[in-house]
Amino acid sequence: MIGRFFTFAKIPALACLCAALLLGGCGGGGAVTAEETKLVMGTVARLTVRADEITSQAALRDGLAVLTQTEHDADGAAIADLEAAAGTGEWREISPALYETLTLAQEVARRSDGAFDVTSGALTELWEQARMEKIPPSAEEIAAARTQVGYTSFELRSVEEGGQTRYEARLTKAGMKIDRGALIKGLALDGIRSTWQKADIKNALADLGTSSILGMGVNEAGEPWQIGIRNPRGERAGDALAVLPLSNEVLSASGDDERFFLYEGRRYHHLIDPRTGYPADTGLASVVVTLPLSAEDLPAWQGHMGLLSDMLSTAVFVLGPEAGRALLADFPPALVILIGTDGRLVGE
Ligand code: ADP
Ligand code: MG
Repeated sequence: MIGRFFTFAKIPALACLCAALLLGGCGGGGAVTAEETKLVMGTVARLTVRADEITSQAALRDGLAVLTQTEHDADGAAIADLEAAAGTGEWREISPALYETLTLAQEVARRSDGAFDVTSGALTELWEQARMEKIPPSAEEIAAARTQVGYTSFELRSVEEGGQTRYEARLTKAGMKIDRGALIKGLALDGIRSTWQKADIKNALADLGTSSILGMGVNEAGEPWQIGIRNPRGERAGDALAVLPLSNEVLSASGDDERFFLYEGRRYHHLIDPRTGYPADTGLASVVVTLPLSAEDLPAWQGHMGLLSDMLSTAVFVLGPEAGRALLADFPPALVILIGTDGRLVGE
């Protein structure tokens, strides 16, 4: 499985890229390679579109709009409302799109035995605070936060009324919080893909800070987009372990090297095992998951492959190699690269 990635690995055709930028394109058809970067969701997003000048500029504008909208969507307010009602037994109305996202998140929570859990908010906030202070939380604080976590205490329902469908949710334990951190970039990629496909964009790349990437079609050289897989134990931030081809696929990476602090020689990172309350400790330093943009054997996930790969990379990281691979067996088109805490690829 991993071998496939190396076989196809090629260096990007930089010469052609330069020609594209200078002369207005290579490959004919008036195609140019247009690029835009934006600081969004705490990361540098880079969008690249290959099409004619007007189409590519419009596609960049639309792609950036999706990113801004995903970061500041109205669902944030709906989630705050839901959290304010946690433990009261009351239901709160949510948008159809949020209902769909959260329903799919619950599916991954069930299948991963709660290793992925969108209700981890109380715990992830505690650890985020700890990262700021560079001191781990006390066992008591962790135990208290754990009582406010649990996907089985999160309910979703649709209500038919007067020929209309209303979507509702409730958190049944006081203090419960929703954390969309492990899926929001994937959600944004699904939005960009949908916008670009409607505009008939064939060749484009959306790279959200290297941890969530959408690759449509091919690059300037007519090859799959070439993605460097970061070595989580590399000396420099850009050190790559491998180069992965990406064409009509999405990629998500979750690693212990993104957000962490060291305390008494131990690494405390941001991927929390909700079942223990502590950062997952399964010998993995990084998990990379790729999925095709469409997969006939996953009909429920049609149009949501970014969301799925984002959730799966987090879930597999928390589960560890063995249970992680067992989870991926439920999602046959998914390919995975596992990198251990020794910085080496983990074999089958
Ligand atoms: P990235 O930070 O690159 O987006 P991930 O997609 O793996 O990486 O998301 C990490 C974020 O997900 C954390 O910062 C936290 O907000 C949230 N999170 C951490 N652990 C879990 C978990 N077990 N289940 C769901 N969300 C989690
Ligand atoms: Mg993720």
